[in-house]
Amino acid sequence: MSRFLSSRLASFTPYTPGEQPRERQYIKLNTNESPFPPAPGVIEAAARAAARLELYPDPDARDLLRALADRFSLDEDQLILTNGSDEVLNFAFLAFGDAEHPLAFPDITYGFYPVIAALNGVPYREIPVKEDLSVDPEAYLDHPGPIVLANPNAPTGLALPLSAIRQLLEAHPERLVIVDEAYVDFGGESALPLIRHYPNLLVTQTFSKSRSLAGARLGFGAADPAIIRDLNTVKYSTNPYNINRMTAAAALASLERDDYNLQNCLTIRETREETAAALRALGFTVLPSLTNFLFVRHDRIGGEELYLALKARGILIRHFSVERIRDYDRITIGSRAQMDALLAAVREILEETI
Ligand code: PMP
Repeated sequence: MSRFLSSRLASFTPYTPGEQPRERQYIKLNTNESPFPPAPGVIEAAARAAARLELYPDPDARDLLRALADRFSLDEDQLILTNGSDEVLNFAFLAFGDAEHPLAFPDITYGFYPVIAALNGVPYREIPVKEDLSVDPEAYLDHPGPIVLANPNAPTGLALPLSAIRQLLEAHPERLVIVDEAYVDFGGESALPLIRHYPNLLVTQTFSKSRSLAGARLGFGAADPAIIRDLNTVKYSTNPYNINRMTAAAALASLERDDYNLQNCLTIRETREETAAALRALGFTVLPSLTNFLFVRHDRIGGEELYLALKARGILIRHFSVERIRDYDRITIGSRAQMDALLAAVREILEETI
């Protein structure tokens, strides 16, 4: 900490992203990226956009906005594009949370939420997930401020049915419900069709996972136009050019080939089920996942121990040093070859621990 740091940030702990190692070629199953390259045409489109780097990008990325609105049968004023969905979440916490409107989210969820709440000085309540690690929607019914739910949740992979989201929206129409759908394309039920009916709903999604564009950083928020206007107030007060030219072009090209992205999602879902079955056969407890990752534990080996043993064998998974889930590891679903390598390494490790 420098002596210049504001006292506001004196005891602030930033989010720790998953490792992006450079010292060795790992099989990377730790940050829920796609094992597949971006859709055909995406790289070329980004390269063409790079030819005009001397010019600022369109602050509204109009062409992309229009294509995204078409894709989801929404109006353009129901959408905001952001630099990853992390950015729209940050905008939303800043715009809608305050002492009068404290946030509520699960104790076991995306670790970025408490960080951006703290950064924006927004009080929050962490509501415990149930014993089986699923979110308890009933526990949010009387919370007075905005509710933030990742659905499906991370790192558990567990999903709530849309009926639970609807119940929360209806319980208090004057209360905002933010649904983070970073992983919805792998089998969850999206709340996007509810936007027309519930002016208190904000849905966020990302191109990072199901569209193989984690490196491009594109996310979006979808909501009633009044909510989008508020988010734009924050955007235009922090970073009006938040979508660079290459990202806008890459995302537009990706949307044009959403058939390719959809096929990859199906492959990942199949690979997920095969991997879950293989891990269960090895004695793992595997939570039923509707995402591109599995949350697993084994009675014979601790979560951190398995993480370290796999890392030593060149395979990266994610372990969280959080009390309630310290026995677990989160494993991203990669290609079938990557999953075969994972399973072979896990078998070896388990044999050594007998
Ligand atoms: N929400 C959840 C639940 C996530 O796991 C992630 C990825 N770390 C994000 C949002 C943000 O992803 P991105 O900023 O790449 O869109």
